[in-house]
Amino acid sequence: MGAGLVGSLLSIYLKRRGYEVQVYERRPDLRSTGAAGGRSINLAISDRGWKALAGAGLEEQIRKLAIPMHGRMMHSVEGGLTFQPYGQPGQFINSVSRGQLNIDLMNAAESAGVPFHFEQRVLRMDVEAGKATLENLTNQDRYELEADLIIGADGAYSMVRNSLMKTDQFNYSQLYESHCYKELSIPPAPDGGFLIDKNALHIWPRKSFMLIALPNLDGSFTVTLFAPTKGPESFETITTPESLQVYFQKYFPDVLPLMPDLEADFFGNPTGSLMTVKCFPWTVGNGMLIGDAAHAVVPFYGQGMNCGFEDCTVLDELLNTLDDNWSKVLPAYQESRKPNADGIADLARLNFIEMRDLVADPDFLFKRKIAGKVAATHPDRFIPVYSMVSFSHLPYADALKEYTRQDEVLSDVITWPHIGEKWDNEYLPRITELLQNQ
Ligand SMILES: Cc1cc2nc3c(=O)[nH]c(=O)nc-3n(C[C@H](O)[C@H](O)[C@H](O)COP(=O)(O)OP(=O)(O)OC[C@H]3O[C@@H](n4cnc5c(N)ncnc54)[C@H](O)[C@@H]3O)c2cc1C
Repeated sequence: MGAGLVGSLLSIYLKRRGYEVQVYERRPDLRSTGAAGGRSINLAISDRGWKALAGAGLEEQIRKLAIPMHGRMMHSVEGGLTFQPYGQPGQFINSVSRGQLNIDLMNAAESAGVPFHFEQRVLRMDVEAGKATLENLTNQDRYELEADLIIGADGAYSMVRNSLMKTDQFNYSQLYESHCYKELSIPPAPDGGFLIDKNALHIWPRKSFMLIALPNLDGSFTVTLFAPTKGPESFETITTPESLQVYFQKYFPDVLPLMPDLEADFFGNPTGSLMTVKCFPWTVGNGMLIGDAAHAVVPFYGQGMNCGFEDCTVLDELLNTLDDNWSKVLPAYQESRKPNADGIADLARLNFIEMRDLVADPDFLFKRKIAGKVAATHPDRFIPVYSMVSFSHLPYADALKEYTRQDEVLSDVITWPHIGEKWDNEYLPRITELLQNQ
């Protein structure tokens, strides 16, 4: 259920193993509505995502859609720029068009023989009977489907999960942030080039709120404003074109002249909510959850899709090692993924504070510099948390443990006497020893 990013990818994996797979999607077909050709919305893909795409034979094709982002480019209110690399030379994350990625995944699935049924909305499922009730949105007919396994890849507001929730011992939590987001844009330069550095993820950190921008292949940038829903500097303070201009002039003056469509974007585009969903179990009877349906996370680590794609990798690996014995695969899948989904959910919330607030904090920047030096000189002994998450396949749960430990070590290190002069010579061996990954 769901032909989003994860459902489409999973259908390829399952079809390749010889299963009969059908995909039901509430929306019309992206390829015929041209929805993907309208507003450019992108997302960041990193190593976990690439691994899953490679496993489906799609890495090379999707790499052609990707724009490397080597680090964060911070914009101060005065217009000053500071660049912080994400990792070692050669390590970068990538901006990819969400619509085009989804289209490529659906095309690949259809070529592999997976039928897609659009404008079919799942209403509920009977987990024990393995039946789902759907509505055909073109004529409002309701019908039942029976399957050996019904997989909810129907996103953060999953209807399949709703049915699992009605069973005994199902745990569920949902947490809304006090912040919302709005997608805006910077168009291409008149010659089709990029108006700001193309190979960076741009951030305008302003403590309780921030603006970010990711590049698109056509020279434009998708810009996202994350701000409180209510209170000072919040969405509720921007009600007129004048108040919008004042807000941007005050906090984002360098980018304002680059956003001629600001007013139309701001008042025309929806304001999105940000939510973390945790639940367990992910498999009940003949129902199973994957992707955002199992674990919606806030977007501040750029890992929601990457995590959902990793679910597909892990499920496929378990099917290999357990000889497609689903009665063993399903428990192993949820046991393996649940702690990691919780780990990235927590890391993503922590990264919001880092992105909007700490990236402009001198202590934070100094800690980053020290960690970067140790990682560069001893890559065999120390991997910073950002790199563990974005450039490795180490469990997210381990990255979360390392987050706390590394921060404690570095918070102590920066209080050592004369640290400013001694950190990269006399103290370096001791710091390396303390930071070494556990
Ligand atoms: C602002 C923002 C920025 C993000 N940036 C990143 C990023 O940079 N990197 C990253 O990795 N992740 C990012 N994410 C997270 C990422 O978008 C999600 O993790 C990812 O889309 C999850 O894929 P999915 O297939 O599980 O769910 P979805 O993409 O939500 O797909 C679910 C599909 O199910 C369909 N559906 C829903 N209900 C029903 C129903 N009842 N019946 C039938 N079909 C149904 C929907 O129409 C949809 O097509 C971001 C999220 C947001 C909100």
